[in-house]
Amino acid sequence: MLLLPASTVERSAAQQYEQLMRTASLKNLLNNDKVQLARLRAIARELIPHSKRFNRNAANWQWEVNLITSKAVNAFCMPGGKIAFFTGIINQLQLTDDEIATIMGHEIGHALLEHGRARMSEQVLKSVSVSVAAAVFNLGQVSGELLTQAANLAVSLPYARRQESDADLVGLELAARAGHDPRAAVSVWVKMSRLGQAGAKAGGGQPPQFLSTHPSHQNRIKEIEANLPKVLPLYDRSRSP
Ligand SMILES: [Zn+2]
Repeated sequence: MLLLPASTVERSAAQQYEQLMRTASLKNLLNNDKVQLARLRAIARELIPHSKRFNRNAANWQWEVNLITSKAVNAFCMPGGKIAFFTGIINQLQLTDDEIATIMGHEIGHALLEHGRARMSEQVLKSVSVSVAAAVFNLGQVSGELLTQAANLAVSLPYARRQESDADLVGLELAARAGHDPRAAVSVWVKMSRLGQAGAKAGGGQPPQFLSTHPSHQNRIKEIEANLPKVLPLYDRSRSP
């Protein structure tokens, strides 16, 4: 389901992202903490050069990384490499650099594998009652409003289990190649599920938003552990001179 051209999806995502950051800035929620921002951007700079392996177009993406002041435990990468982290995910999970790298790698994985593009295509097709054929020929001309809606949904709908597993794999490899310990992906999910359980015990506090867009499944940690032997040699190599 990749009926929308990548260029259309990326342009729309870039507009969405810009608007999101403008709104955050107006509300004083665009975080300018020099240390945290530099930390996030440094990790992104390490991961990005390896992204071409998974999507050749990524070499031309205008990558951006911003930090949003919000208790929400969330992070995303929109189509075309527009990344945002929320202070909530960094602070509440007390993330290490390696953990940030695996989360960012996972998010970048969704973008590289064009999961957002697939979802936007689905949303547009659902909303416009046109035949698939008509859609194929006209998708460059889909109204801006519709694309906006689709782009919004693309970061607020849950990913499918298969997409989660695939993004996990890309994230592990990106982190490992960038010199970040991929085993940190395990501790991220352990921390995430603990936080979810603590919230539920405390009387149904909001579960981490990240879990609603990235449904966790029982086998996730097992799957990650099973894949570690494939990426640990990349990690070792990335650290040897
Ligand atoms: Zn995910």
